[in-house]
Amino acid sequence: MSDIIACNLDKIRNRIRNACAEAGRAADATHLVAVSKFHPLESIEAALAAGQRLFGENRVQEAATKFPVLRSRYPDLLLHIIGGLQTNKALEACRIADVIETLDRPSLLTAIDKATQKTGRLPRLYVQINTGNEPQKFGTPREQADKFIEQALQTFGPAVKGLMCIPPENEEPHTHFQLLAQLAHRHGLKTLSMGMSADFEAAIAHGATHVRVGSAIFGGRPTPPTKE
Ligand SMILES: *Cc1c(COP(=O)(O)O)cnc(C)c1O
Repeated sequence: MSDIIACNLDKIRNRIRNACAEAGRAADATHLVAVSKFHPLESIEAALAAGQRLFGENRVQEAATKFPVLRSRYPDLLLHIIGGLQTNKALEACRIADVIETLDRPSLLTAIDKATQKTGRLPRLYVQINTGNEPQKFGTPREQADKFIEQALQTFGPAVKGLMCIPPENEEPHTHFQLLAQLAHRHGLKTLSMGMSADFEAAIAHGATHVRVGSAIFGGRPTPPTKE
């Protein structure tokens, strides 16, 4: 199992380097966020042993049970929260996350602001954009994006680093990646979290600084534990 994960990581890192080269970008222009949601500690340990330090988790509660123990052994570990965030989870998210990638609405902005005052800890923030305006998805709707990004920048200043999106499953992702890149550029934001196992090379071509890859590293996901 740990051999497979190390081998998968190696392959993905190579593909990232090649995609960067093809896009005329520096070999280290894109960071790999290893998405370990629903996977057990042993899988994360295998990735750590293979040198991976940057991880993404969807659920705050699950991340809170898995990561604090690992942090004590790997002080350079970085945790991104990449799943839609309920306001009542903002406090815990601010305690455990280095980055919250899913700031997407005024109520969550307020909750994170309050949590920050309480914990004295402000994670770096990405604004999630619902580029496909899909009703079932988290993310700021496209036509509200400019206004909400401005609001986030006014509230949190330089802690707002960039944007994140998840393109619709059955659509060609290029236009979504392009839209996110243009939006970030307009607001002077440097970080673009886009691209997953199936489409990260396309995202790198459009300037992704972070790709979020799960199944191509850890294999198929076990069924999720009951909802938190
Ligand atoms: C699960 C998930 C991923 C990883 O998806 P894979 O297809 O397994 O690479 C990336 N981003 C988000 C927001 C996710 O929820």
